[in-house]
Parts: sequence; structure tokens; C-alpha cells
Amino acid sequence: MLRTVQQSLCCHGNRCLSNFAPAQRIIGHEKNLWVEYSALAIKHKAVNLGQGFPDFTPPEFLKEAWSDAVNVPSAHWYTRGQGYPRLVNALSEMYSPELGRQIDPMTEIMTSVGAYESLYAALTAFTDPGDEVILIEPHFDSYSVVVEVCGGKPVYVPLKPDGDPTNANNWVLDKAEFEGAFTSKTKLLMVNTPHNPIGKLFSAEEMEFIARTCEKHNVIIVSDEVYERCVFPGHVHHRIANAPGGWERTVTVGSAGKSFSMTGYKLGWAIGPEELISKLQTVHQTAVYSAPTILQEVIARCVEREIELKGQEQSYHSQLSKIMEKGCSEIISACGDAGLSVVEPFGGYFILVDTSPLGLEFDTSQVAYDIQCAQWLTEHMKLAGIPLSLFFGKNKHLSEKYLRLCFAKSEQTLKIGGDIIRDIVAK
Ligand code: PMP
Ligand code: GLN
Repeated sequence: MLRTVQQSLCCHGNRCLSNFAPAQRIIGHEKNLWVEYSALAIKHKAVNLGQGFPDFTPPEFLKEAWSDAVNVPSAHWYTRGQGYPRLVNALSEMYSPELGRQIDPMTEIMTSVGAYESLYAALTAFTDPGDEVILIEPHFDSYSVVVEVCGGKPVYVPLKPDGDPTNANNWVLDKAEFEGAFTSKTKLLMVNTPHNPIGKLFSAEEMEFIARTCEKHNVIIVSDEVYERCVFPGHVHHRIANAPGGWERTVTVGSAGKSFSMTGYKLGWAIGPEELISKLQTVHQTAVYSAPTILQEVIARCVEREIELKGQEQSYHSQLSKIMEKGCSEIISACGDAGLSVVEPFGGYFILVDTSPLGLEFDTSQVAYDIQCAQWLTEHMKLAGIPLSLFFGKNKHLSEKYLRLCFAKSEQTLKIGGDIIRDIVAK
């Protein structure tokens, strides 16, 4: 005890500040996109179409699930670290037909604190210093940060428009460029479909090509599919785990927050072969041990309800895909009225808007156009969005003048946002 106290005092008897310096691995990662842009929206009292969170009231069945869950004594206790039995059983029942195999609830599923934790666990479980991780960009910001915190090297491969850029599915990988990114150091590849921020759905052919390339190089795939239930009606969500050679090398990540439109829940899961999931479990049990039990009881009930109502009108997932499509069409219509073109998405929460017709001029010698434009719109038009360049590590030129807007919002928020968009050009 005495030694500890002495060690933390410097020769002047004060606490030695150098002991308080951050570990190297977190230096350079102090800023966070969501912290910064949420604060900006609040500061300017802007309508927040920036951060991706639905602001509508919870569906009735969710409230019922909570009032029933409260009466389950074990829902208030610690639970099994790798996942609450009722939830992993329900997830196994839901995903087994979707993945075309019987998923073992005890060994092939892990629940986590949000999809964030599953992504963190997957990346830290497999990335050693010097390992290369391929990130398809634009990409969700946490991927590159976690890779760098692990001492790994993000290797960026862009999605680029091939044909009409206003169709999200035309943003594709250049096959030769993608294959050229693999080296003997490549350990892992991140995939995200439905895609944040483009709104692209990868096709079965694209998934097959990616899976075959990963198989050839014996690379692990982490597939972030948090928007899997937000695919617009008539479109199909293709899972890379279902591609030939996909299952044995893929960790598929899902999110209760996204699947039931309550992003504050922070409950997620990872599904994959035991050989991979057991490694995520090592990180998970050390970091948090388990996700909150009562939340898992509530979500188990919601998943069970979905299984029962599958394909029916009352199924929340069928409603959700229509809600998302409707929200998206509100923004498209407002942008159309304002003469702004968009990259039309087929799923997810987001749409990219091309701000060039606004004719705004900024000095871009220090700060990118889209960043200044997003800040200007938040401050002067009270419309908060996210600049696309923040989702790029290398190919920022592709982001140019795009602003990401979130359409997973209440009718009221979309109406206010839509009115502002219609007003922008007039002003
Ligand atoms: N992946 C993507 C692509 C996301 O947009 C988000 C946003 N929240 C997450 C993961 C994290 O999900 P969760 O809130 O369940 O942690
Ligand atoms: N996933 C959300 C988005 O892309 C934000 C995540 C967060 O707020 N940390 O907007």
C-alpha cells in the first residue's frame, strides 16, 4: 500500500502527471464523430437528421414485454456471460432458417452490449499489431479506430459509382483493386450490409466474390448487419455467411436497437462458428462479462413475437421495412422539390444528398467542403446532417459534396426536416 502511494508521488510530493498520460494505443482517437455532431445539433437547436436514432415512441408490444419482464425474478440477476438462455434460444430459432443451418444457441451465439461491443470483441480478438484489416469505405467510424487501437493497419478499398451514382447499388468494389488489397498480412475483412452510410444492399454475386476472395487468402470476415430488418419492401438482404465458403469464416453482427428501433437499448449479438465466437467471448467476459439481463429478457420476448408473426401484417419487422421506406421517400421528395439529387438507398437509416446545387462556397484549403457545408447547414438552416468524408480513411475525394441524412425519424421530425430542405434553395 505504502509503495503504491510513494510511486504515485513525484519528488515534490505531488502526483506525477506523467503517470496519467494516456496509453499510446488511445492517442489520436480522442475525438468522436457522434459526440461532436450531436453536440453541434444541440448547440444550434437544429432538427437532428445527423445521428442515426429513431425518435418515435416504442411500439405497444415492447412496453408489454417490459412489464412482463419485470416480474421474472431471474431477469434481475447476473446471467450466463455468453448470452441469456431465453434470448440465445430465440435468436437461434430466428436465424437458423435465415442462415440455412441449425445455429447452436450455446456455442454459436454471443450477446453483447450493443452491436458496438460485438464489433469491438471481434476486431480485438483477431487483430495483432502489424495485422492488416481490409475496410470497405465509406465505413462506420468505429472499425478503423478499433483496428488502430489493436496496433493493426486499416487497408481501405472504396465503393465507387459504376454507372448512375444516384442508385446506391451502383456503388461497387473494383474487383482488381479489392483483390490487390490482400497481402500475407491480411487477417480480417469488414463488410457492412445494408450499408451505412450509402444505403447499398450487397448482391448475392458481390457476397460470393468477397467470400471466395477471403477463402483464397484464409481471411476472417466480420459482417455488420445491424440494419438487416430495415431493408425496403421488395428487396433482399444477402448474408455473406450464406455465400459459398462464407459460414466458417464469418462473424455476423446484429443489433436489438436497430431491429426494434430503440437504439438506447444497446443490446447486440454475434453469430458464427464456435471456433470464432469463442474468441469474441474471451474479450466479452473480460470487458463486461454479460449484457444486462433484463434487456435480454425483453428482447427475447420481442424476438419470440417476431418468430410467431413472421410474414404477417403485425410482424414488427414487416412494418419496419415499410416505415423506413416511407421515411426515406419523405426526404427524397423534399430534396426533389429543392432540386437536390440523392443517392437512393434500398435499406438502412440513411440517404446521401448531393449539396452542390446549393452553390455554397467555402475556402477548402484547410477543411473539406462537406464538413463546412454540414456545419453551415446546422448553424444557419437548423438542419443537422453528417459530412460523408468522415466515413473515409483514404479516398475522401469520393465524398465531395455529400451530406448524410437519417430518415429513421418520426413523421413530425421528417416534416420539419423536409420543410427546411424545401426552404434551403429559396433562401
Ligand atoms: N454498426 C453500424 C453500421 C451502425 O450504424 C451502428 C450504429 N449504432 C452500430 C454498428 C452500432 O450498433 P449498436 O447501437 O447496437 O451498438
Ligand atoms: N450508428 C449511428 C449512426 O451511424 C450512430 C452511432 C452513435 O451514435 N455512436 O448515425
